Amino acid sequence: MPGELPPASLRLRIDRQALADNWRYLDSVSASETATGAAIKANAYGLGVDVAIPALLEAGARDFFLAHWGEVPAALEHAEGSQLSVLHGVRTPAEAHFARETSVLPVINSVRQAALWSQSGGGACHLMIDTGMNRLGITAADVSDPAIQALDIEIAMSHLACADEASPNNVAQLARFRECAQSVGARGLSLSNSAGLMLGPDYHFDLTRPGIALYGGAPVKAMRGKIAQVAYPEAAIIQIRDLSPGDSVGYNATWTAERPMRAATVSLGYADGFLRALGRDGVLHHGDDTLPILGKVSMDMIIVDVTNSDVSERDFLSIPFDLPELSARSGLSQYELLTVLGGRFDRTDG
Ligand SMILES: *Cc1c(COP(=O)(O)O)cnc(C)c1O
Repeated sequence: MPGELPPASLRLRIDRQALADNWRYLDSVSASETATGAAIKANAYGLGVDVAIPALLEAGARDFFLAHWGEVPAALEHAEGSQLSVLHGVRTPAEAHFARETSVLPVINSVRQAALWSQSGGGACHLMIDTGMNRLGITAADVSDPAIQALDIEIAMSHLACADEASPNNVAQLARFRECAQSVGARGLSLSNSAGLMLGPDYHFDLTRPGIALYGGAPVKAMRGKIAQVAYPEAAIIQIRDLSPGDSVGYNATWTAERPMRAATVSLGYADGFLRALGRDGVLHHGDDTLPILGKVSMDMIIVDVTNSDVSERDFLSIPFDLPELSARSGLSQYELLTVLGGRFDRTDG
């Protein structure tokens, strides 16, 4: 490595306190017998496990859910004294071997996965029951299969398809889950994600698995005002230029100046997760100044109007990132807004 890497022109500040407070709030929604876990898949929804896991551990979380085995090593570095689980289960003998070596519990999702797990040595695992989403998990009919009955099940779980809506599907999934769970002989049960937690105590069981709300998302209205923003992205100005009337800006010249202006080119693009949908009628901020985005978002850059702001070429500008609000404005889901945040941000806590 020739020399020390300079700080990036993109910063993602993670408010550790807000993250811990969000976990505590979600923990307080359910009874004290119900443990509150944390979904930390996709690098803690894009925030970074290096910051997220220690904050969650400090708050009291002990059960962490990943999607891929490839996510295990980074999480293991921080997860001492807690239980990691992998939602995709064991697809291959190599995955079963890795699960055993790392003491990470697979969530078994099918009769085939159950047989593979037992053949590779068995031991404790979780079980996912599909109660109506038709995505991942055994069916009600699979419950009596000898391969399922042979499992040593820690937690039997299911996942709600419509927890963020007042949908009859929630009640139907709850009933199906209760029925199936009776016959699998698990030591504990788990059903709710973030939104499911707000459906009431019937949905809490022994363990909940919130994700998005930990990270500042509010999938249901009842969470607004209770869940605090956690991720604060910022991007630096690389260049400032003057525009004359008639000058156009960016790809396809979609925006043209009508009067003399000043424009700043900012180190932030769709490769960083700032998708083109966010550019339309979007703004950045410099202190209290609002800086409208001009023209199209490029891969690595956007251009903003700084005519009325006292900025210079080293300054960082803040990117509005109130998830419910940004989601409503852009049409992107709160989950998408977070998980597409790119690898070029320096992720810091504070
Ligand atoms: C992602 C996921 C969660 C967390 O869901 P949120 O809506 O982010 O709270 C919980 N359980 C399963 C099975 C998941 O895949």
